[in-house]
Amino acid sequence: MKILIVDDSSTMRRIIINTLSRIGYTDVVEGENGKSGLEKLGQGGVEMIITDWNMPEMDGLEFVKTVRAQNAGIPILMVTTNAAKEDIVEALQAGVNNYVVKPFTPETLKEKIESLLG
Ligand SMILES: [Mg+2]
Repeated sequence: MKILIVDDSSTMRRIIINTLSRIGYTDVVEGENGKSGLEKLGQGGVEMIITDWNMPEMDGLEFVKTVRAQNAGIPILMVTTNAAKEDIVEALQAGVNNYVVKPFTPETLKEKIESLLG
């Protein structure tokens, strides 16, 4: 299953990629903000998105809204430091399926991904 990881921090992308690999997901593509995330998504084959919120050029919220306008079904997990309840509600209203607050454990990421995949 190909997973798109969108985060402006290369360190955070590396952490997510390492965590995914530990739980069995090794097919990943990366974007450094919403704009490049949309480009990677447009290349096809992506079955799940893991995105940050705070990013330059196009943030995660705008990215999610743009993706949802054209794809209602793809699972989207947001991984962010924005932990306030109203932030979580806003992200869910934009179309995020689930939410992980940084820092996270591999177990948490695994649980969230598995719940997304049903
Ligand atoms: Mg960020």
